[in-house]
Amino acid sequence: MQKWKPTSIRYKTISISVMVSAAVLVFNAVSFFLLEIYSYRETALPHAQKQAEFIANAVAKPMLSADRAAAKRVLQSLEAEKELAVALLFSSDGTVFCVVGKSGFDDELVTYDSDAGIFFSDLRVTQPVFANGKFIGKLSLVFDHSQLYQRLSWFAIAAILILASGILLAFLFSSKLEAVVFTSLVQLLKVIEKVKLSGDFSIRAKRTSHDELGDLTDGFNAMLDEIQQRDQQLAEFQHSLNKKVAEKTAELNAANQAKSEFLANTSHELRTPLNVILGFAGLLKNMVTDSDQQRYLNNIAVSGKNLLNLINDVLDLSKIEAQHMCLKNEPVDVKSLLKEIADIHSFPASQKGLQFILETDPQLPARFMLDETRFRQVLINLVGNAIKFTHHGFVKLAAKCEFSATEADSVCLTVTVQDSGIGIPEDQTEQIFRAFVQQDGQDNHKYGGTGLGLAISQKLIELMNGKINVCSIVGEGTTFSVVLNDVPVSKSVMSESGAADAQNWEPDDIRFHRSTILLVEDDEANRTLIHEYIGGTHLNLIEAKNGVDALNKLKVVRPDLILMDMKMPTMDGAEATKRIKRNPLFCNIPVIAVSANALSEDRREALECGVETYLSKPLSRKDLFTVLKNHLPNTMVHREPQNASAPQSETEHSPFDQKLDKAALDLAYQLVERLQKMMENWQEISGTMITSDIERFGQNIKQLGNRHLVGSLQQYGEKIEKYAASFQIEELNATLKAYPEVVRKIETQLSGMNNPNLVPIRPKESR
Ligand code: ADP
Repeated sequence: MQKWKPTSIRYKTISISVMVSAAVLVFNAVSFFLLEIYSYRETALPHAQKQAEFIANAVAKPMLSADRAAAKRVLQSLEAEKELAVALLFSSDGTVFCVVGKSGFDDELVTYDSDAGIFFSDLRVTQPVFANGKFIGKLSLVFDHSQLYQRLSWFAIAAILILASGILLAFLFSSKLEAVVFTSLVQLLKVIEKVKLSGDFSIRAKRTSHDELGDLTDGFNAMLDEIQQRDQQLAEFQHSLNKKVAEKTAELNAANQAKSEFLANTSHELRTPLNVILGFAGLLKNMVTDSDQQRYLNNIAVSGKNLLNLINDVLDLSKIEAQHMCLKNEPVDVKSLLKEIADIHSFPASQKGLQFILETDPQLPARFMLDETRFRQVLINLVGNAIKFTHHGFVKLAAKCEFSATEADSVCLTVTVQDSGIGIPEDQTEQIFRAFVQQDGQDNHKYGGTGLGLAISQKLIELMNGKINVCSIVGEGTTFSVVLNDVPVSKSVMSESGAADAQNWEPDDIRFHRSTILLVEDDEANRTLIHEYIGGTHLNLIEAKNGVDALNKLKVVRPDLILMDMKMPTMDGAEATKRIKRNPLFCNIPVIAVSANALSEDRREALECGVETYLSKPLSRKDLFTVLKNHLPNTMVHREPQNASAPQSETEHSPFDQKLDKAALDLAYQLVERLQKMMENWQEISGTMITSDIERFGQNIKQLGNRHLVGSLQQYGEKIEKYAASFQIEELNATLKAYPEVVRKIETQLSGMNNPNLVPIRPKESR
C-alpha cells in the first residue's frame, strides 16, 4: 500500500477534489448569502417607507388633537411587524410625542435621528406628518433586521452542513476514483521497487486496465525487456572483455617475463665476452712491463668497465623501477675509492687540457659502511659528466665529513664534484635528474650520453638515505654535491693500528692446499680464464662443458668444490646443482654458482637450487679467491714483494718432473685427453693447411702447455704459431708432423710416472 504522505499523488488528487468541492460549495453559499441580503434590501426599504407613509397619515389626526393615546394605538398597529424595533413620533418642535417599541429597545434610537438606508445597521425610515397641509411632526420607524439575521443564521448552518457533506462526498468519490486510477500505478510502483531492490530485470508488471495506465504498464515492461536484453549483452560483453583482459594480462606478463629474460640474457651475453676481456686484460696487466702497453691495457680495462656500466645502467634502471634494487653495505675506504676514481679520470681530463684536483678531508675515517659498487657508480657518473661538459679549467673531486654530535659511529659524508664547464640553466637543474633527459638543445653528437646516469644516481643516493644537490652558473661551471647523512663508520677499521683488515689481501697471499675443483662451464674462453686464475696454485681443475658432462665426471672423481655456470646447453647449472644436492654422495660438495645473469631473481633461483654462493661475472681473480678461500683449505701468508708471486718454474710444478699425487695425476690425464681430442683437428689442418686454423691450433697447444705447466708443450705450440704467422711452410710442415710424437711422448712419460697406489681418472672412462 502506498504510504499516505503529502507528496503522494493520492494525497494530492484527494486534496484537490476535496478543496475544489469545498470551494464550489463555499462560493455557492456566499453567493446565496449576498443574494439573500440583496433581495432583502430590495424589498425591506420600500415596504418600510410605505408603512411609514401609511402610519404618518394615520397619526396626523391624533397628533393634531394631541391625543397621545390614540396616536400610540396607531403606532401599536405596527407591533405585528417582527422587525420593527421602535416607532417614534416627534412633535414639530422635535420632542418625542409618542414611542412604541420592542421591549428593551435601545434608548439611543430615540435620540438618534437620521435618514434611512444604513444597510447593515438598523433600518430607519422617517416620514413627515402633515395635517391640513401643515407640518406637525415626524414619524421614525426603526427596523432591526432580526428576521434577516435569523434566516441568514439558518442558512449558514445549512451551508456548513452542505459543505461538510460535500467535502465528505468529494473525499469518498475521489478515494474511490483514486482506487480505480491508482491501483495500476501503485502496482507499477511496487514492481519498480522490487526490480530496484533485487536488480532482477526479468520481473514484469501486470496490466490491470485498458486505459493509459495499462499502456504505461506495457511501456514499462517493454523498457524492462530492453534493459534485460542490454544487461545480457553487457554481461556477455563484460565476459568477453574479462577474457580479453585476462588474455592481455597473460600476454603482458609473458612480455614482462620476456623483457626480464631479455635483460637477463642480454646482460649474460654481454657480460660473458666482457668477462673474458676484463679478465685477460687484468692478467696481461701483471705480465706487461712496458708503460705504453700498460696504459693500453688500462684503457681496455676502463672501456670494458664503462661498457659494463652501460649494461648495468639499463639493468639498474629496470631494477630500481621494479623496486628490486638492494644495497649491500660493506666497509669502504672512501679515500682509496676517490683516488681510484681520480686515477681513472685524470688521464681523460689531462687529454682535454683539464686540471684534475682531488681534495680529501684528512679527518675522513678509514672506512665507511657503504655499498661500494653503487657509490662508485654515482661518483664515476658525476666525474665523467664533469669532464665531458668542461672544455677548459678544472674538475675537482672533494670529500669532507662532519661528525655527528650525538652519533659517535656515524658521520655526514659530502662528496662534491665541481667543474668549470658549460653549466646548466637554472630552470633545467631539476629536469636533468629525470630518466633520458638532457639539457635542452644539447649537442648529442658532441656529448652523446643517454640521460640515464643522473636519474640512476639520484635514486641510488636516495636509497642510501642521502641526496644530490646541484648548483650551477651557465658558462662558469657546476657543482654536484652528494650528501650522505648518518653513514656508519666501519668499526673494524676505526683504529688504523688494529688487526689487518680482512679485505686487505691479494690472491697471491693465499696458499691453497691441494684440492680439486670441478669447473662446469660451456664457454671455452671462460674455462681458460679460470684456468689462468688458478694457475700457479695447488688447485687442480677438472672441466665439464655442461650439467650432463659434470654428472658424468662426478662418477669418476670427487672434487672438493664445484664451480657451476648457471646457463649452459643440454643441462643448465640449476638442474645439475639440484641433482648433485639430491645425491647423498655429493651433497656435501660446495657448489659455487658463477653466472653472467645479474638479476636478483637469478641469484635467488640459484640459491634455491642449493648452491652455497653466487658469483656474478665479470669475475675477478680476487672475487674467485675470496670464495675459494672460504671453502677450500688454505694458508694466508704475509704479502711478499712482487717477485715473490712470480710464476713458478715449470720444473717446480710439472706433473712429469715429480712424484704425482692424485690431483696432479688427474690433471695430467686431462692434458693427455685434450691432446688426443685435438688429434682430429690436427689431421684436418694438416690436410687443408689453412694457416689461420693452424695458428689457432698452435695457440691452443701453447695454452695447454701454459695451463699444465708443461714447458715443452708450450714451446711446441709457440713454434707452430710462429711458423704459421710467418708462412714458414717447410718448418711448419715438419713441426706439425711431429704432433703425434709429442703426444705419445707425454703419454709415455705419464704412464712411466703413474703411481700404482693412486686411482687416476682414465681418459676413456671419463668419456
Ligand atoms: P648523460 O650524461 O648520459 O647525458 P646524465 O643523466 O648523467 O646523462 O646527465 C643528464 C644531463 O645533465 C646531461 O646530458 C647534461 O645535459 C646535464 N649535465 C650533467 N652533468 C653536467 C655537468 N657537469 N655540466 C653540465 N651539464 C651537465
